[in-house]
Amino acid sequence: MFVGHYSVAFAARTKQNTIPLWALFVAVQFLDYIWATLVLLGVEKLRVVKGFTAGSMLDSYFHPYSHSLIAAVLWSGVAALCYKPLCCRLGYGYRKSGALVVGVAVFSHWIFDLIAHPRDLPIYDNTAKVGFGLWNYRDPEFALEIALLAISIVLYLARNVVPAIRKWAVIAFGMALVAIQIGDTYVPRTALSDKATALGVWIFYSLFVLIAWSVEKIGARPRTSAPPAS
Ligand SMILES: [Zn+2]
Repeated sequence: MFVGHYSVAFAARTKQNTIPLWALFVAVQFLDYIWATLVLLGVEKLRVVKGFTAGSMLDSYFHPYSHSLIAAVLWSGVAALCYKPLCCRLGYGYRKSGALVVGVAVFSHWIFDLIAHPRDLPIYDNTAKVGFGLWNYRDPEFALEIALLAISIVLYLARNVVPAIRKWAVIAFGMALVAIQIGDTYVPRTALSDKATALGVWIFYSLFVLIAWSVEKIGARPRTSAPPAS
C-alpha cells in the first residue's frame, strides 16, 4: 500500500474536526516515518529484492518497533496524545475529537499494510506474522489504491468548504498521486539499497506533506486583525 494510505487523510478531514490535511498526511504515514528512520539507523532491517512480490520490492523482514500490531497501537496513542500540544504550539484550533481522529489515522496504516503486505507484519516483537498479501496481485492491489484515493477525494470535496480554485488543486494533487502510483507499480526500475529506499520514503512523504499544506492555502482568505474599511 502506498498512495492508498492517503485516502484516510482525505476522508478524515472535515470542517468539524479542523485537522489540517498536511497533519493527516503525516499521521497516515507515521509508522513508515518511524520505519524509515529506524532503517536508516540500522535498527530495523529491509531487503530490496526485484520481484519480491508482484507489486513491491520491499522485503521488510525485521520491523517490530514500527510495524508490529502492538507498536502500531502504541504509536497511535502517542500521536493522539501529542496532537493537543502540537495544535497549541502551531496555533491550530484543537478539538478533542481531533485527537481521536489522528490516533485512528495513524492506526489505519497498519490495517492497510495488513491488506497489502505479504506475511511480514508481526503481532508483537518479531513473531506471529500476518499479512493478506494483496501485493502478490498487482492489478487488484493497484485498483484498490486508486479506488480508495478517488472515493476519499470526493468525500473531502463534499465535506469541506473548498473554494473552486482549491477544488481543482486537490483534484490535480490526486491525479499526481495516481501518476506516482502508476510509476511505483508498473515502471520497472533497479532495486535501490535499503538506506536509499528509506531516505526516498522520507523525501517523498515529506514532499506530499508540503503539497498538502500548500493546497489548503490556495484560495484561503488572509487572516487579518485590521478592522474592515468603512
Ligand atoms: Zn508501512
